[in-house]
Amino acid sequence: MDQSPAQPHRKIIHIDMDAFYASVEQRDNPEYRGKPLVVGGLPEGRGGVVATASYEARKFGIRSAMSSKQALHLCPHALFVRPRFAAYKEVSQKIREIFSRYTDLIEPLSLDEAYLDVTTDKLGIGSAIDIAKQIKQAIKDELQLTASAGVSVNKFVAKTASDINKPDGLTFIGPSAIEAFMEKLPVDKFFGVGKVTAQKMKNMGLHTGEDLKKLTEDELVRHFGKVGRFYYQIVRGIDNREVHPHRETKSLAAEDTFPYDLTTTEEMEAELDKIAQTVCKRLQTYELKGRTLTLKIKYSDFKQITRNQSFPTGFNDLETICATAKRLLAATDPDDKKVRLLGISLSNFNEPTPKQKEEKPSDQLMFPF
Ligand SMILES: [Mg+2]
Repeated sequence: MDQSPAQPHRKIIHIDMDAFYASVEQRDNPEYRGKPLVVGGLPEGRGGVVATASYEARKFGIRSAMSSKQALHLCPHALFVRPRFAAYKEVSQKIREIFSRYTDLIEPLSLDEAYLDVTTDKLGIGSAIDIAKQIKQAIKDELQLTASAGVSVNKFVAKTASDINKPDGLTFIGPSAIEAFMEKLPVDKFFGVGKVTAQKMKNMGLHTGEDLKKLTEDELVRHFGKVGRFYYQIVRGIDNREVHPHRETKSLAAEDTFPYDLTTTEEMEAELDKIAQTVCKRLQTYELKGRTLTLKIKYSDFKQITRNQSFPTGFNDLETICATAKRLLAATDPDDKKVRLLGISLSNFNEPTPKQKEEKPSDQLMFPF
């Protein structure tokens, strides 16, 4: 979106459904309400991972991406249910329909999360805060679910803000409040800062945005790589990324670099489970099915290999992604190696969905964070 001088600030809303999968299950199954509920992974299953935990389950410390084994240990009376992705997708489409009443600039991040650019006030409501309120209310009235909203002038601050008052929150961070907000923000809340980078920052004595701000752009790049440039800007409240309503992808990838070398197949498989979950979520968000899965492995001596396998039909389910990645891993004699990085990507997408056909081709979509 071009920003005319008369309109110096964009108005961005980030909407995030509260404990989405678990909330849908509790809505559809009254017997689950008020109970610690875990969606994804079964206590007797091997390698199962928590997709979403209800707020009742979170009180016991259960979190997304945790192994179901650990979840069960934290809360032995938790209920475990298998995810019903078809149901969540249906709800997700209804949520997007609600968004589309208020703006045409919607960028979904997953089934339950999206950025909305409401700089153009489609319904003439008057303020971005009121638009966010109305969207939350419509979701509540029509879908019996709650969402949290963050309202600001850019994506990063809006997304961070939506996480502040969960569940059912609405947080506005206006232009004059951004600087103070960013200075107080703990480094692990920065977009793109995972556990590994957060620990590295803490080891360097960097705990908040204020600490990060003391580093020059060059220093940030030296320590954290290219993403350092993004940190430099973001800590100053600058994030010019647009809300992209359309995306065409050639491949979709997720990878993770580890703070120490992985040396056993078990460790590597556990990490692949997490990476597969990220890839799976992204594929399902964009309604993409890939026919080729590529496993990337970087060893502690920086040698890198890739292994891939292609299938006659596309897939985006977690089981196939995990099984294929692990099979490719097993063929590399993993137990003899020291692994520093693992990545999974999917490509060779099938026929584009009607939604994508309308869109013009753009660059390969990679997720650097
Ligand atoms: Mg959510």
